[in-house]
Amino acid sequence: MRRSVLTKVSINIKSGTLEEEGLVVGIDLGTTNSLVALINPDTGKPEVLGKAGELLVPSVVHITHDGFPVVGNIARQALITHPESTIFSVKRLLGRSYKDIEAHAPFYTYRILDEADEKLVRIEVSGKYFTPIELSAEILNELKRRAETITGRTVNRAVITVPAYFNDSQRQATRDAGKMAGLEVLRIVNEPTAASLAYGLGLKSTEAKTIVVYDLGGGTFDVSVLRIEDSVFEVLSTQGDTYLGGDDFDREIVKYWLHFLPEQLHSGAFKSLRLLAEQAKKEVCGGKVFEEIYNHAGGQYRLSLDLTIFESVTSHLMDKTIQSLQSALKDAKLTHEEIDEVIMVGGSTRMPFVKQRLVGLFGHIQVNDSLNPDEVVALGAAVEADVLAGNRNDILLLDVTPLSLGIETLGGLMDVLIPRNTKIPCKYVKSYTTSVDGQVKMSIAVYQGERELTAENRKLGELVLSGIPAMPAGLPKIEVAFLLNADGILTIEAKELKSGINQQVEIKPQFGLSDADVERMLMDSISHAKEDVARRMHVEARTEAEQMIYMVSRFLEKNAALLSEDEIDTTRKLSNALKATLTNSDKDTILQGIDSLNEYTRSFAERLMNKAVLSSLSGTHIDRI
Ligand code: ADP
Ligand code: MG
Repeated sequence: MRRSVLTKVSINIKSGTLEEEGLVVGIDLGTTNSLVALINPDTGKPEVLGKAGELLVPSVVHITHDGFPVVGNIARQALITHPESTIFSVKRLLGRSYKDIEAHAPFYTYRILDEADEKLVRIEVSGKYFTPIELSAEILNELKRRAETITGRTVNRAVITVPAYFNDSQRQATRDAGKMAGLEVLRIVNEPTAASLAYGLGLKSTEAKTIVVYDLGGGTFDVSVLRIEDSVFEVLSTQGDTYLGGDDFDREIVKYWLHFLPEQLHSGAFKSLRLLAEQAKKEVCGGKVFEEIYNHAGGQYRLSLDLTIFESVTSHLMDKTIQSLQSALKDAKLTHEEIDEVIMVGGSTRMPFVKQRLVGLFGHIQVNDSLNPDEVVALGAAVEADVLAGNRNDILLLDVTPLSLGIETLGGLMDVLIPRNTKIPCKYVKSYTTSVDGQVKMSIAVYQGERELTAENRKLGELVLSGIPAMPAGLPKIEVAFLLNADGILTIEAKELKSGINQQVEIKPQFGLSDADVERMLMDSISHAKEDVARRMHVEARTEAEQMIYMVSRFLEKNAALLSEDEIDTTRKLSNALKATLTNSDKDTILQGIDSLNEYTRSFAERLMNKAVLSSLSGTHIDRI
């Protein structure tokens, strides 16, 4: 009896080695605040990292007078003292050109260079230049350092979230910021997707739901309608306002207070009252009444706020968010009744009237606010990070495969098993056979890409199926299965069905390929499509001719006794003529040669050819070893 062979190999495409893996984290890189989370190995649940009260890292970078960047709470204090060297809201500048942000230029207190319209913006602080990518990398680095200090482990891989409306350039810039901070970015995930994951939506593959994610942060408002089906997240619509958030609510409080200050103090008071207004907002939203004596320019003024006043001076802002939500539903062509759940995200959803309005609108359904709204995006990113790191095998597919996956067949052709844009996980099976009598080994080379010839695609790995029982060519039935799981890991299994011999190999196709690489490979395949088809046809003709020549010579050897001398002679001549076309001829000449040989041999071939030979002519052949 034959022993069945089963091997499982993990290849790290990027490094080519097996290395001790560091921790993988989820990061919410916010406009106002950023946060890192990871899965607690004891509970299996996501947790944010840090001491109470300093979990959130303000997304603010202050450049000190000697050009050194400082991130977080200290930098936030410098917003008032050093506005021109303190960069806030850098997320709005990521992946953007000056033209993109021009309309909002007065919003920024620091200097954004107005260089070329199409170039990504830079920021100048006392003669030094910084890109938004570098500054975002400083924030990510701070989060990484904190996570490393708390866990005592290296943190080297992350999932980073971005708003659903971010374009390619903004996503790529986010990815680059991660790289610059020393992180391997496993994936860029949409914030509403992460929020859904934090609530466990999409983790059960059987579930189909349409949800609304309402995210009101410090400076921005985003509302997205998502369809989750078979654990695939599809953004049906997204709406919002990149200049509407908690800060605007604070500003309305300041405006209200100005009524109680003499006019000559107004311009100076505005800046200094901003942080006090935020504090007042949080207190009244937490059920308290705010009261404070404000000392300014030698005078004393009583400033107060309660929830009723707060809600009345900001109701127009609240209304705006509801209007965006309505238009998001309209864009998705859905009514309120068709929504299954609502998720509240962002620090500003702590304002009580947010939930009241949402419950008023959606009444009957679940409005999820049980998780901390500041943390929910980071928590979901940690769940996704855990999945992508290969720590969970119960779930989940959030993606499609960006490039086709296939194997090399005879003549160096790419035979696609999983076409690009296939939803993952998925499994595809195809049957192949041997091309030479007594072939006992078969090599299966795995490629990724869109070109017709494997030489122009990317080789991912190779699997050798050995121990195939010796049989005539065409008889073995080799089944090749490609299984692409939800985190983009490809497992290939090759099995010889008669003997049950089995080989398995695992490959990670996505790592090591940047988005730019993927784009380039797709562009190449488009610009070469015509040329590729012609080459494929030529290769196919040649392969067919080679097969034919091989079959015919074998046939003559075995059956010489049953044929006339003339038959043998003419067959040899035609076969040699075909052989001659292989070196320099075009496709049509080769095909003519095949036709003549076919035509001539058909009369006696049908009579004599044994079944094995016939079946080997009709199979697809992988390779000869
Ligand atoms: P971003 O996603 O823009 O980084 P966050 O989700 O961290 O922002 O939200 C920050 C905003 O949440 C700030 O405007 C802050 O004032 C507001 N916020 C935080 N806590 C509260 C609270 N208890 N009540 C009302 N607003 C709050
Ligand atoms: Mg946010």
